Amino acid sequence: MSEMAIRKWNQIEETKPIPHEIDRYDTPKSDSALLQLLKKLTPQTEVLGDEKNAAVYKEVQELMGRAGSFAEGTKVGKANEFDYLLVLDFLNDRKVFNPVIDEGSFQIIIKDKEAPIINDLLNQYPDIVKFDDRKAIINSGFRWLLLSTLREVFDAELKKGWKRLNSDINGYCSSKAAATIHLHSETYNMDIDIDLCLCFQLKPEDLLQAAQENKEKLFFPFLLRLHQKSSFDVFALVGQIMECSPLTRTKISAAFREFSDLSHYGCYDGRVMTYKFAKCLVSNFIPKYSSDLECTKCCHSLIRSYALKTVILFMIRRYPDDKYWASDAICTRVVEVFQY
Ligand SMILES: [Zn+2]
Repeated sequence: MSEMAIRKWNQIEETKPIPHEIDRYDTPKSDSALLQLLKKLTPQTEVLGDEKNAAVYKEVQELMGRAGSFAEGTKVGKANEFDYLLVLDFLNDRKVFNPVIDEGSFQIIIKDKEAPIINDLLNQYPDIVKFDDRKAIINSGFRWLLLSTLREVFDAELKKGWKRLNSDINGYCSSKAAATIHLHSETYNMDIDIDLCLCFQLKPEDLLQAAQENKEKLFFPFLLRLHQKSSFDVFALVGQIMECSPLTRTKISAAFREFSDLSHYGCYDGRVMTYKFAKCLVSNFIPKYSSDLECTKCCHSLIRSYALKTVILFMIRRYPDDKYWASDAICTRVVEVFQY
């Protein structure tokens, strides 16, 4: 691991609660404007308490299974957005597939060109394998092949009263790693989005290889160190090739780890309520923008839930004691989410 990576890691490790900062814990006055506002927003934190939301949720769950923030108990507002992470287990066989980092992106190299699964793939879809410098690499057509197959299944399973709204030829709107299906329920007169992320699991040896080959970049050495300290499932998202982030082009997810960190507290815990209130404030008061100029339904808030959740998870480490998450402290914690 590079010197810089170690220094950065140690800085994070040394971030312990600062006593005088934690002692600055004020209970807001009962008539404070923020407290009044949070009281008003409380119904938005109980999405399934609303009959229409509960009915829409039930139908989507029957079609697709339990979704991200609903399963975590952190959905706010309406039952209008459902996130799914689809894990491509068939890429787990390292005798056949080898994910390697190339300029920040994971490429899937085919190690065993004679494997039955590769024969089937090449027979049916010869265009999705690129032969480059005697290497056989799965190319970007793979993502669209999987998504179009999924869309066909999805359309066949769609219940009466539901309509898919995407006008794009592929049937999806794409933003970074996710592919979105817009649906309309005629029964409940509600638009909903289904966000799908395709991913494959990264094994410890994949992380080790990525860290060794990307020493100059902090991200993979850092991720490897975290993973060695406490093992958790790490996934590489199969995103659009052109979507780049400065850190690494491949987006990495530790969705189950995130999920378990919040969901085990229960949906009325102060930590979860703080997160839900922060989400409510963002959805009610922060402007949205369209990430896809051709689709007005692709609207996202300027502050993503992912950023809020990262802050909350950091605060949970910083305020380990339950008393800082008691109901009379939530107001202060919500303000702090935006201070971070
Ligand atoms: Zn769209």
